[in-house]
Amino acid sequence: MFDHFCSAGTMKQILALHREICNTLNLKPNRLPDFYPKIKAKLANSWKAQALFKKFDLRANHKVYGKGRICAQTKVLIIGAGPCGLRVAIECQLLGAKVVVVEKRDRMSRNNVLHLWPFVIQDLRALGAKKFFGKFCAGSIDHISIRQLQCILMKVALLLGVELHEGVSFEELLEPTVGRHGERLGWRARVSPAEHPVSQYEFDALVGADGKRNTLPGFKRKEFRGKLAMAITANFINRHTEQEASVPEISGVAFIFNQKFFKKLFEVTGIDLENIVYYKDDTHYFVMTAKKHSLLNKGVLLNDYAEVSRLLSVENVDRTALMKYAQEAARFSTCGLLPLVDFALNHYGEPDVALFDFTSMYAAENASIVYERQGKRLLCQLVGDSLLEPFWPTGSGCARGFLSALDAAWAVRSWGQIPAPHPLEVIAERESIYRLLAQTTPENLHRDFGAYTLDPGTRYPNLNRTAVTPHRVTSFYDCDEAV
Ligand code: FAD
Repeated sequence: MFDHFCSAGTMKQILALHREICNTLNLKPNRLPDFYPKIKAKLANSWKAQALFKKFDLRANHKVYGKGRICAQTKVLIIGAGPCGLRVAIECQLLGAKVVVVEKRDRMSRNNVLHLWPFVIQDLRALGAKKFFGKFCAGSIDHISIRQLQCILMKVALLLGVELHEGVSFEELLEPTVGRHGERLGWRARVSPAEHPVSQYEFDALVGADGKRNTLPGFKRKEFRGKLAMAITANFINRHTEQEASVPEISGVAFIFNQKFFKKLFEVTGIDLENIVYYKDDTHYFVMTAKKHSLLNKGVLLNDYAEVSRLLSVENVDRTALMKYAQEAARFSTCGLLPLVDFALNHYGEPDVALFDFTSMYAAENASIVYERQGKRLLCQLVGDSLLEPFWPTGSGCARGFLSALDAAWAVRSWGQIPAPHPLEVIAERESIYRLLAQTTPENLHRDFGAYTLDPGTRYPNLNRTAVTPHRVTSFYDCDEAV
């Protein structure tokens, strides 16, 4: 059963096999010390499990986690089982918190491929990625499909004891109140479906990892409006033939560096791009930034509108022309060596090609807020795309998302300390760290990836933990009594 769990490729299979394993072993997802040693002992006969647990032990034994008991009193709710939600779940679990994740979807179906910075590859290897997916970043490969990444992280989270509920959507944050029998209830969530047991879960740390359409209240967003930028993603079936394997990837040919290529592409096909990336993964994945005039000339956009939302509206995009455009650009840039005939299918069972707008990008103004009602405190944080929207063609999304997940877990660690620090101190440190995130590149992080821990000081070379002082973040501490 464990071997099947390790090789399972869908959310349904992973969760079903995990439930079966737990039922057979008479275990229930729980805090690390109450789950992980038990599953480890019960799977002592599986060499595969033991090899994996050796990796987990190496991580879990790091002193930042205080033997998995440093957050023994903390209860965390995480909204979203995307890569960043799962990554923060793993860290909070290692800290010994009770961790519950809600995911509104019941499957993982994103073919699109994420570029991984070197530290992310090292991080995932240390979590046993190769044991779940043998092809993980083999040789010089530095990318993975979003679906595959979610599979790996979900398996790690579940084996450590994280409780995950699929098909459950977070709807609203509920303030502490008095229950039907006079009992004092803490912070809870209104979820859909309404009667789901998660609606009874009381937590004191909440992480919004629900992607770019963040649903948590209280976080203002800054908009970065650049010049019109439209990206096309396209996934073609990879039949893994020798011929396909021999075609080189394109890891990002910026226009300024290769004007000749893009000029030629335009002359031959009428397609005008600013850049194009090709990764060979589960699919043949292409992402390209296209210029408006060529989308209009090639009939992808039917009418020219100044307003981007109207320009890219469903009614204004000819999907057949879009497929042709993507196919032509992909063929040209791989010198016709790939049989790019059949598109892989997306979530809706349609050819996986899409046009996205990157003209306006959003970032949250702050990464954390503390709410206090009737003496009950709640630390709220954003991570991943909810916190800082990435521009996919430059491949920064997942790496910055992972950094934010680690930073958020670091704040949960401070939050769970006994005695607890003042909320303003936790927020001030979190905001000091957040200031660095948008500037991070693979080059300006610490080089010794092996030495990375949850402590942000091991990752950011120029970290000033007190760059933001507590008195400057008072507006992020929302308390029902005078502070
Ligand atoms: P996501 O991966 O978006 O995960 C958020 C999760 O939260 C989802 O599983 C969602 O179902 C769940 N959720 C949302 N609302 C709720 C709710 N109310 N309750 C419960 N669960 C909820 N990046 C690239 O570099 N290249 C690409 O080609 C690319 N393509 C993408 C295509 C799509 C359609 C999307 C959405 C994102 C794409 N990205 C791409 C971005 C990339 O996926 C993210 O940067 C990366 O996955 C990290 O994101 P995350 O975990 O913060 O959020």
